[in-house]
Amino acid sequence: MIRVRFAPSPTGFLHVGNARTALFNYLFAKHNNGKLILRVEDTDKERSKKEYEDMLIEDLKWLGIEWDEGPDIGGEYGPYRQSERLDIYNKYIQELLEKGHAYYCYCLPEELEEERKKALAEGRPPRYSGKCRHLTQEEKKQYEEKGIKPVVRFKVPDGRIIVFDDLIKGHIEIGVDEFGDFVIVRQDGMPTYNFVVVVDDALMKISHVIRGEDHLSNTPKQILIYEALGFDIPEFAHLPIILGEDRSKLSKRHGAVSVRAFKDEGYMPEALFNFLSLLGWHPKEDREILSKEEIINEFDIKDIHKSPAVFDRTKLRWMNGVYIREIIPLEELTKRAEPFFKGFGYIGSFDYYKKVMQAIRDSIETLMDIKERARPFFVDEFEFDDKAKEELSNETAYKVIQTLYEKIKDRDTLTGEEFKKIMKEIQKELKVKGRQLYHPVRIALTGEHSGVGLDILVEVIGIERVKKRLQRALEYFG
Ligand code: GLU
Repeated sequence: MIRVRFAPSPTGFLHVGNARTALFNYLFAKHNNGKLILRVEDTDKERSKKEYEDMLIEDLKWLGIEWDEGPDIGGEYGPYRQSERLDIYNKYIQELLEKGHAYYCYCLPEELEEERKKALAEGRPPRYSGKCRHLTQEEKKQYEEKGIKPVVRFKVPDGRIIVFDDLIKGHIEIGVDEFGDFVIVRQDGMPTYNFVVVVDDALMKISHVIRGEDHLSNTPKQILIYEALGFDIPEFAHLPIILGEDRSKLSKRHGAVSVRAFKDEGYMPEALFNFLSLLGWHPKEDREILSKEEIINEFDIKDIHKSPAVFDRTKLRWMNGVYIREIIPLEELTKRAEPFFKGFGYIGSFDYYKKVMQAIRDSIETLMDIKERARPFFVDEFEFDDKAKEELSNETAYKVIQTLYEKIKDRDTLTGEEFKKIMKEIQKELKVKGRQLYHPVRIALTGEHSGVGLDILVEVIGIERVKKRLQRALEYFG
């Protein structure tokens, strides 16, 4: 049975890099009829917050990632929050201490810092000397009496080279001399990441550990703990890192990096899902727009690249535009757009929003673009810029607006088709066409120099607002 897990620390918003890790675990599980487990790694008491856990869950769900076991839904192998598993960890710490795979270390932080500096100065990798490996009961007692709280260190077998075959990175060999005896319980009694992750992955029967490449250097330490506790070692797959467009590690400097930020900027979860799936993977045939089902079907861990993935924002925007234009049904799109309309102060009924979305969906890439694109549908009292003023002070331009107004002022309705017909009449009567004919009307109705088709606009805003705006322009430029 394939069992994978996503194990975030609830210390902030869900970063898109972590979301990609969650996504690849999800895809791997779904493709193989396996299970995805959500485990919350909240042993860092100071930085972890329940609110972050809640937001994390919300954002994962928004993105369309579902799990089979987790802190919110329970499961056979819980609890799924590390802070609730401390007794379990203690039991295994005791086992390691008893079997001689771990020991108490009373070295003071200052001493360790001295050692570290010395090693660096001598050009050696800074690693713990193993000084406390062989303390006698008597020596331990003395330290305890002095009130020194020990840490627990894992006893790393000298000279070992840890070898494993990563499903993405291939054959890996790392010598233990690079790290030395590492801490598995801190002074405050909290077990460390490298230890708890092994206990949890083993007890939760995780078959494949799929995570970011930044954890590659932790893997040998974890393998040693698996061995010491007699657990089966899972398969490992380390995902390539994600870079910004300037090829440095993706960070806030590059703009939005949390899933929440993309949501707030008006991205479609389906587009982000699609985009993230292509960060380090791509389907056999060269297609970019893929549904969730297609991605699940085609996802093969063997096709994940070794080299870094670049987070191309322009591509994400483009992709989002495709989803807005062609994929999300209008009704659903409007539901998602509603809070954006309201946020911009564009007030209308749901049906009105729907008409506006229909009119502008082809010209927006994110829901944020609604601000600019939808303005003519809501704002009657707009400014005229210098260019507009110049164009409308032209006599012919004024005449066009005047004639249009005369032709519609006694009407009660005006469809797009009727508007076009009236414009044709004006063309004949005044002998103006093209830009000369349409542009003055656009300025009078919107104050803008480009935008949505005027026939669409007039039909959506309705004749009364059309009259009002034409009148306003006539007064302004008369
Ligand atoms: N809590 C760790 C992280 O967020 C989990 C790493 C792992 O998957 O082992 O990076």
